[in-house]
Amino acid sequence: MTLTAHAIVGGAIASIIPKDPAIVFCAAFASHFLVDAIPHFDISLTSASVNPNIGAPMKYDKALFRDFLVIGADALLGIVLAIFLFSSPQTFWVILLGACAGILPDALQFLYVRFRHEPLISLQRFHRWIHTRNHLKDSVLVGISSQVLFLLVVVAFTYWSYWWTR
Ligand SMILES: [Zn+2]
Repeated sequence: MTLTAHAIVGGAIASIIPKDPAIVFCAAFASHFLVDAIPHFDISLTSASVNPNIGAPMKYDKALFRDFLVIGADALLGIVLAIFLFSSPQTFWVILLGACAGILPDALQFLYVRFRHEPLISLQRFHRWIHTRNHLKDSVLVGISSQVLFLLVVVAFTYWSYWWTR
């Protein structure tokens, strides 16, 4: 899914169980793979240097620049939204940790492209295995609206859980 979606899910988990940062990190990291298993739309990358399925040598061109901008904006949007939606002054850092841990598996894919060693090899294999084969490529509109709908459900469930555990 988009990094925005992963960051929001990670932040939501952190806000539900904010007590122990180690558990937040593990749960948010694990959530990445479960979320990737849901049929979804992915932003396609144009540079072969950052595409983990190609892993071409670094080429500093327009495509790479465009991908860095898109990836950076996507991650930043997710982190800002997660903090805005779920954090309080007491939980700011743990929400930030959850959002970043939710994104981390995709960042590790880029590391894997440059550094093909364990445990990155096994992690990459698992990531590809669990990732849905259904990419909703046919319609960008369906892809984006389904992801927005998914996030609305996540946010609604999270707010409901605050109320439930109060
Ligand atoms: Zn992923």
